[in-house]
Amino acid sequence: MRTHARAVVIGGGVVGVSTLYHLARKGWSDAVLVERKELTSGSTWHAAGLLPLFNLSYSVGQIHKYSVRLYKTLERETGQHVGLREVTNIRLACTADRLDEYKYYAGVAATIGVPVKFLSPAEVKEIWPLCNVEGVIGAIQHPEDGYIQPADLTQALAKGARAGGAEIYRQTAVTAILATPAGEWLVRTDKGDIVCEHVISATGSFARKTGEMVGLDVPVLPVQHQYIVTEPHPAIEERRRRGFPEMGVLRESDASYYMREENAGLLLGPYEVGAPACYLDGPSADAEYELFPDDLDRLAPHIEAAIARVPAFGEVGIKKVYNGAIAYTPDGSPIIGPAWGVRNFWLNEGHSFGVTAAGGAGWQLAEWIVEGEPSIDMMGVDPRRFGPYASQGYLREKNEEAYAKVFTVHYPDEERPAARPLKQSPCYSRMKALGAVFGTVYGWERPNWFAPPGYGLDEADLKTPNVLLNENHAPAVPGERPREKWSFRRSNYFEHVGRECRHVHEKVGLLDMTAFAKFEVSGPGAEAWLERTLTNRVPKAVGRIALSYLLSKNGGVRSEFTVFREGEQRFYLVSAGALERHDRDYLLKLCPSDGSVTIECVTTQNGVLVLAGPRARDLLERVTDADLSNASFPWLSGKMIDVGAARSRALRVNFVGELGWELHHPIEMQTHIFDRLMAAGREFDLKPFGIRAMDSLRLEKSYRLIPRELSIEYAALESGLDRFVRLDNRDFLGRAALLDWQKRGFRNRLVTMEVHGITDTDARGSEPVYRGGELVGRCTSGGYGWRLGKSLALAMVPPELAQTGTELELVILGERRKASVIPESPFDPKNERLRA
Ligand SMILES: Cc1cc2nc3c(=O)[nH]c(=O)nc-3n(C[C@H](O)[C@H](O)[C@H](O)COP(=O)(O)OP(=O)(O)OC[C@H]3O[C@@H](n4cnc5c(N)ncnc54)[C@H](O)[C@@H]3O)c2cc1C
Repeated sequence: MRTHARAVVIGGGVVGVSTLYHLARKGWSDAVLVERKELTSGSTWHAAGLLPLFNLSYSVGQIHKYSVRLYKTLERETGQHVGLREVTNIRLACTADRLDEYKYYAGVAATIGVPVKFLSPAEVKEIWPLCNVEGVIGAIQHPEDGYIQPADLTQALAKGARAGGAEIYRQTAVTAILATPAGEWLVRTDKGDIVCEHVISATGSFARKTGEMVGLDVPVLPVQHQYIVTEPHPAIEERRRRGFPEMGVLRESDASYYMREENAGLLLGPYEVGAPACYLDGPSADAEYELFPDDLDRLAPHIEAAIARVPAFGEVGIKKVYNGAIAYTPDGSPIIGPAWGVRNFWLNEGHSFGVTAAGGAGWQLAEWIVEGEPSIDMMGVDPRRFGPYASQGYLREKNEEAYAKVFTVHYPDEERPAARPLKQSPCYSRMKALGAVFGTVYGWERPNWFAPPGYGLDEADLKTPNVLLNENHAPAVPGERPREKWSFRRSNYFEHVGRECRHVHEKVGLLDMTAFAKFEVSGPGAEAWLERTLTNRVPKAVGRIALSYLLSKNGGVRSEFTVFREGEQRFYLVSAGALERHDRDYLLKLCPSDGSVTIECVTTQNGVLVLAGPRARDLLERVTDADLSNASFPWLSGKMIDVGAARSRALRVNFVGELGWELHHPIEMQTHIFDRLMAAGREFDLKPFGIRAMDSLRLEKSYRLIPRELSIEYAALESGLDRFVRLDNRDFLGRAALLDWQKRGFRNRLVTMEVHGITDTDARGSEPVYRGGELVGRCTSGGYGWRLGKSLALAMVPPELAQTGTELELVILGERRKASVIPESPFDPKNERLRA
């Protein structure tokens, strides 16, 4: 066994072996893999081997696409049979909402290059004659989809890795991982120590145990998953005798199961409500090829639904039931990328579709490790998207929920109920009393919109389509009627959000943005460090504010910060709430170690209330002695002010494009400030507003969001950040790469578009953009702009199509819509209202 290696991969399941394979392919022949038992003996051996390309996440969609294409070539490359069967995959739709989901997905698929075909019920019947298509209103088919033999696939990847010089040590358990004084890792195994530069944890159900070795609370907890294999069915045997093709993988999403042929019988895998989280304390030390006792009662409704759909399933006996552990995270996507707080420790964990994801996950992670950056936007799978709030108790509730909802319609406005409310800002109950309908970000409850007193959906509104598991509305508070219906189209809250937007525009509104990530950066080296880390100049005068960006090594955008200079050596940075751990990790890892800069994360110490609208100054003047005049308190400046008796940082910035202040205050004083504002606000008709109104208002200002308009895949200048990227006479992280990218030529430009002919469906982001029938770009955000009275979309298109007036087409839920490029910030382009 080697005593030194460049990288040590822990875990010999399909994910770990793929990571090793890709490291070797990138030239790291001195990478090794350590497996405590035999390769595949964790979750991989019992996987059903399906390779579903369907995924609404941009990151996961790309990963799955890469995998399937890699698996087609592996056998040729390694000589190892992988059992790939490209039998196609059909997903049935029994409701209009389901069909909307597929139409939305077809747009995502078009932008990432995954072919999808729509089928009529008759076409389904032709391909799957054993399927009863009653109640089916449509379907999609992935021609490239199918299944594979997971153990053979793993062996092929292992063969490929070994051919690249990598080594695999089986029957070797990692027992400790220690940091060495030289900044390397010492991986202790029961067969000896290996010192290495990088450690990759790919340990499946053991993820939390492995994390503990380096002090990480890894947000992964497995859930039990079962599938049933039947005895052969005469009709399938007959098809085989007659040389008919396999019928392919069938997914009845509305009844939450997958089915395929297996040795002339059928294989059925349901995703049921009530599947328990397992291995709460991790698997035992001797766990190997482990299965749990089956529990068919839990599957009963799905078995019945499957028999109704495919009667043949009920006509043969059950041969075997597999009940195994499947790793989960709270949102169901894996965690692939760097761990937080430790250097050169990487996570490739939490895979619930690990056979499908392994290829792409290994590819991108190897790229990140070897080249310093992945090439696709990995925000959807970044391990730092969860924070310290993701305790084991939280994981238990959320992961069971994520499992149960694998097949539910993934509405873009869905807000899942488990483990809520968890993080509440002090004004939570007050907002609730005012009618707030909450959503969550990073565990925080935030008002999405406000329902009028007594508002609730009536029976007609609530009539849900006839599905087994879905409910297209938020669960009602006991004793109350539900207040929102989720949809891919404009839903019941549309007009209410409009009312909030108009109110902010005409009068004044109050928004809870406590979830913002906040950092205090101070010390003698703070200014110089911020200058060389972020794209914009650090504000020279105390009290001034600048918007600045952290770029990737390649010149793409990683994070956005509002930088407020509070003192000569003190700065207050604000960034997106969802990215707190992500942003904090980058700031801390980039921070010099000489003590010249101190970074403190103060997110939970500070609440944020945003006051915005033309009457914001008049109102705030009623509760503070501070001079709020333009001369003393201009746009893009900040001060400490008193609001009533409470101290608050007041920053004259906002994300909605109206006169306003963000009040960043000690969190324990929030209700004091809230009550003072509400009392003084009566005179000005102050009303609360929510995140959905903010999103509409920001679209009219063409304000960008990470990871939509801003991402590591787009150069900062492609995203139109020219004003905030100061290239003159200074160096900062990513500058050289950005200039190189500029020399090579940009392929994208962010545009704002007006979408024409819309009646009930605005763009959401991810819709494909066409010009004369040719796919030219991708939508990043969309929605209705209430101040302009227009349906809007932001999109990335080739620079030559970015001129104002260019006519393009967007496909929204399968409908082609005309769209014209309009000037950036169509509402108040000169920022007169912000400066008022
Ligand atoms: C019933 C069932 C059906 C499934 N069907 C599908 C499917 O059709 N398609 C699909 O894509 N996915 C499917 N899955 C999910 C799939 O099985 C997993 O996502 C995938 O196998 C995960 O692979 P992995 O490499 O991450 O984990 P594992 O295969 O569990 O590998 C982790 C390895 O790490 C090793 N290890 C842990 N700790 C240490 C240590 N300290 N030292 C050394 N080694 C260590 C373990 O021994 C283990 O071998 C299914 C899962 C179940 C339960």
